[in-house]
Amino acid sequence: MSRGEYWNEEIERMAAEPRRRLENARLQEQIAYNCAHSAYYAAKLDAAGLRPGDIRAVEDLARVPFMEKSELAASQADGTLLGINQCAPIERVVRIQATGGTTGQPLRVGWSRRDTEDYGEMGARALWAMGCRPGDIVFTTMNFSLYAGGLSDHLTFETVGAASIPYGVGQSERLLRMMAAIRDPLAIWATPSYAVRLAEVAREIGIDPRSVGIAKGFFSGEAGMQVPGYREAIETTWGMRAQDMYGTGELALHSGECAHRTGLHYGGTGFAVIELIDPDSGAVLPFRDGTVGEAVYTSIRRQCCPLQRMRSHDLFQVWTERCRCGRTTFRFKVLGRTDDMMIVKGVNVFPLGIQATLMTLAPRLTGEFQVTLHRPPPIDYAVPIKVEVARDVPAAQHADLARDVVDALKKGQNFTAEVTLVPQGSIGSDKKVKRLIRAYRTDAP
Ligand SMILES: [Zn+2]
Repeated sequence: MSRGEYWNEEIERMAAEPRRRLENARLQEQIAYNCAHSAYYAAKLDAAGLRPGDIRAVEDLARVPFMEKSELAASQADGTLLGINQCAPIERVVRIQATGGTTGQPLRVGWSRRDTEDYGEMGARALWAMGCRPGDIVFTTMNFSLYAGGLSDHLTFETVGAASIPYGVGQSERLLRMMAAIRDPLAIWATPSYAVRLAEVAREIGIDPRSVGIAKGFFSGEAGMQVPGYREAIETTWGMRAQDMYGTGELALHSGECAHRTGLHYGGTGFAVIELIDPDSGAVLPFRDGTVGEAVYTSIRRQCCPLQRMRSHDLFQVWTERCRCGRTTFRFKVLGRTDDMMIVKGVNVFPLGIQATLMTLAPRLTGEFQVTLHRPPPIDYAVPIKVEVARDVPAAQHADLARDVVDALKKGQNFTAEVTLVPQGSIGSDKKVKRLIRAYRTDAP
């Protein structure tokens, strides 16, 4: 079957009106279902003086209290398998995975068979937009052990029909030798920092990354692809086309960018609605071109562990004008975690902004960095930042380079930095890189 440009054309090109009708109808059903199967959700509505029938449209959600991941975590702390938002009996559950909890404890999430199919549908829309097709030979290099972003996302490549190879994390040398031994063009699904690291390993063992033959890169797990220069560096190094995607363990891999690279196309239409809120006041923000706000998720078709106004603490910037690809769903960029944002002398600083500034000093810098705050706000001191210096920069030039970094951050990001240059490869790793460490917190890693 030929699908053309879209995985699901009817949904992805739906006009705003019918989309709203679909969302509102499913929302009404979902809220009634949540309240009938979860005392926690019933109590949430009760607390606001609402009955399930009062929620008739997405706009009505503004009256429903938020849920926090910490509430779910607390409800699992006594040994309860899935906790307060479990709405389907265990006999209907076919998969249990975990997401990162706020306290570092993994949060268990269950899926019914239909939920897993819906997960695959959302992911397939994203991957198709990114150019993934049957015939692609995709090495998937995420952690399959427990987290939804591993196995479940891997299975979305199967849903699309790609020839998917579940490689997992680690053993980079073996991976490179295996890839280099295959004559056909390949694809990889990885974090951006792993692509950088893997190129390092390739050079260490005498393999030119471009000779490996990776034509397509599908990237997730970090926002690095949206940093100017970072993507280009990966594409040049490998000779690949690198596309960005996004998901969250509680919902799914749900969004990917199209060939026009105008942001991530939301692929969760019909399964979840996203509201944007002011992270401080909780007020709902108008969904307009350019709006920045924290994403709040509400499931509208979910059997096992539905989300009902779950705060993500992720900051999105959204665009609502139709993309040239013809998709009508909104597009977004992830600016970072609301708690990864730091305010230095009244200026909001995002990790992505820092990375963008550092990339202006490529190829002397790799773009990898880590900020460590030793004292709680206010940040009225030079911000300690470790910055990776490229291997071929002679040590004699490091002092000058460190001064250039301080100047660039002052000019580009409006803060004074205390820069420590660290060797290439010492920050980027197989795992998600933590960009901002609040060392003063007792729960800091
Ligand atoms: Zn597009």
